[in-house]
Amino acid sequence: MPGSPPSAALRAATEMSSAERRPSRTLARLQARLRGSAGKAIEDFRMISSGDRVMVCLSGGKDSYTLLDILLSLKRSAPVAFELLAVNLDQKQPGFPEHVLPQYLTSLGVPFHIIEQDTYSVVKRVIPEGRTLCGLCSRLRRGALYRFAAENGITKIALGHHRDDIVETLFLNLFFGGRLKAMAPKLLSEDGRHIVIRPLAYVAERDIARYARGRQFPIIPCKLCGSQDNMQRVAVKKMLAAWERAHPGRTESIFCALRHVELEHLADTRRFDFAALDERRIPAQSLHGASGPVTAMTLEEEDRLLEAAAANS
Ligand code: SF4
Repeated sequence: MPGSPPSAALRAATEMSSAERRPSRTLARLQARLRGSAGKAIEDFRMISSGDRVMVCLSGGKDSYTLLDILLSLKRSAPVAFELLAVNLDQKQPGFPEHVLPQYLTSLGVPFHIIEQDTYSVVKRVIPEGRTLCGLCSRLRRGALYRFAAENGITKIALGHHRDDIVETLFLNLFFGGRLKAMAPKLLSEDGRHIVIRPLAYVAERDIARYARGRQFPIIPCKLCGSQDNMQRVAVKKMLAAWERAHPGRTESIFCALRHVELEHLADTRRFDFAALDERRIPAQSLHGASGPVTAMTLEEEDRLLEAAAANS
């Protein structure tokens, strides 16, 4: 029931003996996969360095629990020493079970801090009834977390966004913003004071959901604020899910495209100097001239192509 403390799940998570905490073989394999993907993202984007103080933003949802769990696991075997601090913003939504996260984090022995700030009332007061609250709510939440980070020597802010969030954001920006823009795995905040990292950038949402179920995280319902889902995001999510059903692997392929951008085949004159192409052009004369490696290669290629075409005709 929304708003009621998820006491059974919490008890399960906090009262498990160490033997019970040992994951099943399937879960262990999944954990190894998530660790591998997060470790690769951390390495590819140089997300965490020696001495970093990493703030893990914990909402009580499956993504942030998984993020914390995987980072704790990676920390134990990481070649560099870094600190983790779990931070939750208690936005004072009615029915928020405020004991759940402290109890869970205490049971893990993780350093943590709960920021208490009533952003809920502000959002409710400012946004007209029936409109989505998420835009303003997210901005206020970001402000509170950034402020805490600045005051507490945090060097990296880790968020639980995953591969599917990134691809959904790409399509939201394409369809409604006219921008080829997604959600970066590592980002400098607009004011230049914070580095945001997304270690689950390579992880599929379905794997996170399976992992969260297997680990029995004490999930806190996300609808306590009473906000409507962002309908555009829901539509994009459905579209991607339908594509994935019809063509398994499509979401991964789209994500892969974000890592292999070919600016010369897009149309942004701010990012690619199309005017300079004129200077790079090799005059036709030299292609058909008598000497030079480019000429020889090009003619050989032409011969091969002609031979292949003749053989196929
Ligand atoms: S769902 Fe509720 S808590 Fe989450 S961003 Fe939207 S308004 Fe804020």
